[in-house]
Amino acid sequence: MRSTNYNKPSQELAIKIRGLTKSYGKVRALRGIDLDVGRGEIFGFLGPNGAGKTTTIRCLLDIIRPDGGKSSLLGIDPQADPVSIQALTGYLPGEMQFYDNLTVERQLRFFSDMRNLRTEWGYVRQLAERLDLDMKPQIKNLSKGNKQKIGVIQALMHRPELLLLDEPTSGLDPLMQQEVVSLLRDANTTGATIFFSSHIMSEVENIAKRVGIIRKGEIVEVAETSILTKRTLNRLTIRFKQAVEVRELGNLPEVEILSQIDGNSINLQVSGDMENLIHALGRLPVLDLVSERPSLEEVFMTYYKNKE
Ligand code: ATP
Repeated sequence: MRSTNYNKPSQELAIKIRGLTKSYGKVRALRGIDLDVGRGEIFGFLGPNGAGKTTTIRCLLDIIRPDGGKSSLLGIDPQADPVSIQALTGYLPGEMQFYDNLTVERQLRFFSDMRNLRTEWGYVRQLAERLDLDMKPQIKNLSKGNKQKIGVIQALMHRPELLLLDEPTSGLDPLMQQEVVSLLRDANTTGATIFFSSHIMSEVENIAKRVGIIRKGEIVEVAETSILTKRTLNRLTIRFKQAVEVRELGNLPEVEILSQIDGNSINLQVSGDMENLIHALGRLPVLDLVSERPSLEEVFMTYYKNKE
C-alpha cells in the first residue's frame, strides 16, 4: 500500500461508529447506529430502500452532520479533519453531479484538482480501459452507466486507503458490474478497506466477507456473509418410496413444510441445525433428499419477514 504523509493515529479499525443518530424533520433516518469495520475488510452494508444506508455514508464523510453519536474513519474524526479524510478516502455517491459540458478527462482532472488528490494518471487510464470508458466525449453525451463509471474512477483514482461506495454497480450491465467488483477486489488486495452499500444480495455475497444489515435506521445484524447464509435456512426436497404421513415433520421445532409436491414428495425449510429432522427421517422410507443452500437474498428476506 502506498504510504501517505497524513499524520494519523495507527488503529485497527477503518470505520468506527457509535450511537449515530440523524433525523430529517420527523423522519428518524438513523436511530443510534454502532458499527466497526476492520482495516482491510470488504464490508457490505445491506438494507432496503430508505433504511438509512446513504445517510450513514454521508454522515461518515461529514457531507451531512449527524444529530448525535460519534464516528471515525482511519482513526480520524471526519468533522475535525475533513481534508485528511478526503485525501485518504474514495467516495462514490449514490447520485452524482457532473459538469455536462466537460469531457470525461476534464471532469476527472477537475475533480482531482478540486480535492487536491495525488492522482496517478496512468492508473486512471488503466481504470478507464478496464471499464471500457472513452475519456474524450462530453459528459452530456454519456449514458447513465458510463456516468457511473466516471464515479467509480473518481473514487479509485488516488488509490485511497478506504473506499465508501453507495451502490457501486448501480446502472451498469452485468459484465461491467463484474468488472467493478474485480476492480474493488484488486484495490482490496493492495490494502484498501471497502465499505459499500447495496441491495443486490448476490453482489454482496460475491465479495463481502462481512455484512451489516440496516433496517429503519437500526443495525439489525452484523455477521460474516458465510455464517449468515449457513445459519438461517436450508431448503430440502425429500422424496419418499411411497406416500407417507408428513405432519409429524412439520411439528418439529424449526421445521416448516412449504409444500407437498405429490403424495411422495415434500419441500421443507429448516432453520438452525437439522439433527431433529434427520432423526425423524430415519423412521421414514426416504428415497432421496436434495438440500439447497439459501442465497443471501433469501436469508435477508426471511430476516426481514421475521423481524416484522
Ligand atoms: P436507498 O436504498 O433507497 O438509497 P437508503 O438506505 O440509502 O435508501 P436513506 O437515503 O439514507 O436510505 O434514507 C433514510 C430515510 O431518510 C428515508 O426514510 C428517506 O426518505 C429519508 N431521507 C433521506 N434523505 C432525506 C432528506 N434530504 N430529506 C428528508 N428525508 C430524507
